[in-house]
Amino acid sequence: MHDLTGKTAAITGASRGIGAAAAVAMAKAGASVVLAARSVGQIEALAEEIRGAGGHAVAVECDVSAFNDVQRAVDTCIETFGKLDIFIANAGVIDPINRLEDSDPTAWARSVEINLFGAYNSLRAAIPAMKAQGDGTFINISSGAAHGPMEGWSHYCAAKAASAMLLRNAHLEHGEGGIRFIGFRPGTVATDMQVAIKSSGVNPVSKLEVSDHYKPEWPAQAIVWMCTADADEFLGQELFMGDEDLQRRAGLA
Ligand code: NAP
Repeated sequence: MHDLTGKTAAITGASRGIGAAAAVAMAKAGASVVLAARSVGQIEALAEEIRGAGGHAVAVECDVSAFNDVQRAVDTCIETFGKLDIFIANAGVIDPINRLEDSDPTAWARSVEINLFGAYNSLRAAIPAMKAQGDGTFINISSGAAHGPMEGWSHYCAAKAASAMLLRNAHLEHGEGGIRFIGFRPGTVATDMQVAIKSSGVNPVSKLEVSDHYKPEWPAQAIVWMCTADADEFLGQELFMGDEDLQRRAGLA
């Protein structure tokens, strides 16, 4: 078990899926966590569950496409727990799945607002706090879609590719200042996002079965490991859940 005792973390998209599993894993590892998402009922219930298990957690309503919401999540972490050690930029959406010719321009832009501007807002809010402290870890949840086109996912592929580059830029500008930036491709994970992908019937990912996917606890544990100094050799890079060396180092293999 990797130890995050005394660390504080803000996690976006913590209401379900990978973000919720990461919040639980980080709390179990000893971190105090801020759960940020739009579904207030779900993050409050999860925060209560973590506190009931002896951990420290608060919920903050947050739409990552709104900078002030992300700033509030960072401020809440500092006001409640004293500092911001870790930020997990995990919030993301796959909808609307459509070929370009059928895509709705407003819905396409909304997806980019969440998947790309959400990553920018997260970096923009977290970097000044971490810079003031002199350290911190920022993990961006990327995707295989950042590195290759997928039918019906043009909004998602374009936004994830741009957010992967954004992370590299952050590492270039602030990596020397003590902030650890890591990208992470979680592979395919059994979450609501894969349910939406399957029901679309578009592209090969929709043909996968639930048993083909990682359980959310796997990327969650890998994320906890990335927050430790053992992952320092990978700063500025994007790691992949399918990498057996990563699985071994994270204690999963
Ligand atoms: P999920 O189960 O659909 O959960 C998505 C999370 O993002 C929810 O907590 C949702 O919370 C949050 N979210 C969506 N829009 C938001 C917004 N505007 N502001 C704040 N939070 C928002 O998806 P998941 O599979 O866990 O995905 C998590 C991350 O992993 C995403 O970045 C996704 O692209 C990436 N990923 C997933 C897979 C996979 O196979 N599942 C593969 C590669 C990458 P609310 O709706 O409550 O706001």
